[in-house]
Amino acid sequence: MKSLILATTAVAALLAAPAHAAPEGAAQTWSLAIHGGAGVIERGDLSPEKEADFRAGLAAALEVGSKVLKAGGSSLDAVEATVRVLEDNPLFNAGKGAVFTAEGKNELDASIMDGATMKAGAVAGVTRTKNPITLARAVMEKSPHVMLAREGADQFSKEQGLEQVEPAYYWTEFRWKQLEAWRAKQKAAIDPTHLYGTVGAVALDSKGHLAAATSTGGMTGKKWGRIGDSPIIGSGTYAQDGVCAVSATGSGEYFIRANAAYQLCARIQWKGEDVKAAGDATIKAIGDLGGDGGLIAMDGKGKPAFPMNSSGMYRGWVSSTAPAATAIYAAETGPK
Ligand code: ASP
Repeated sequence: MKSLILATTAVAALLAAPAHAAPEGAAQTWSLAIHGGAGVIERGDLSPEKEADFRAGLAAALEVGSKVLKAGGSSLDAVEATVRVLEDNPLFNAGKGAVFTAEGKNELDASIMDGATMKAGAVAGVTRTKNPITLARAVMEKSPHVMLAREGADQFSKEQGLEQVEPAYYWTEFRWKQLEAWRAKQKAAIDPTHLYGTVGAVALDSKGHLAAATSTGGMTGKKWGRIGDSPIIGSGTYAQDGVCAVSATGSGEYFIRANAAYQLCARIQWKGEDVKAAGDATIKAIGDLGGDGGLIAMDGKGKPAFPMNSSGMYRGWVSSTAPAATAIYAAETGPK
């Protein structure tokens, strides 16, 4: 009788769960969560075609990353492959489609962290590498350093034989118009209204290893060699096996000051918070400082969280027990 009640309860829980959620208690052998940036994204801001394009872009990234994980590949390979897809998509503010600096250039930042070894690699202000996330991984694996910047990072990229592009490769009309709008205002060093588009991925692989990756063009109108949180380990990206993996997006200055990605992991590790509570508390800390944005986090068992204090964040999730799902608006049912 007891087992019948338990079985009925389990079925009821399954039926009540939204389509994207993993059945309660089911072991996730792998899991992948992604974001394509947070910001002021209201229903009605996007045409139905644009919205469909964003969802298709997220779905394509999930597809590539999940293939790696399904085949028994590492979370590190999965987050790199996933972020490369988003970097190549001109809709997102990373790789092709990156935002412009005040001078009308593209300076790209990226970072990656392997939860198994806690090794990390990052690049800031690079101008010629097609896929900055792959350069960040090369810094981690092929140099004795964690972070390289600007001309030196460009030079290292060439020496590593990574695919080089002319700076004009990153150009898109949409991001150029954003720069023109910013120039017309000419008030702030960076646009105080944070605009979406940074990309990131966190994953758990079937061996239980976590990894995280983040890539961005930064913020429209950035000056003076400004670097945000995305290439900073502990702010925009963090991963530690058995604890959590995080990739952030938002007004970077606040994520740096709050040590956002590390703060979230420390909450889980030292305070015993679950991933949702830790994510919500971290975003609250950012909000209390005056910042906005969101992040994706995944605990050591592959359970994701998608906290944000902005009106939207492009996001998606797929796992060995949950079908791929994407969402855009804060209030939307979907990966949350
Ligand atoms: N966090 C990024 C930065 O501050 C921007 C973003 O996520 O949209 O450079």
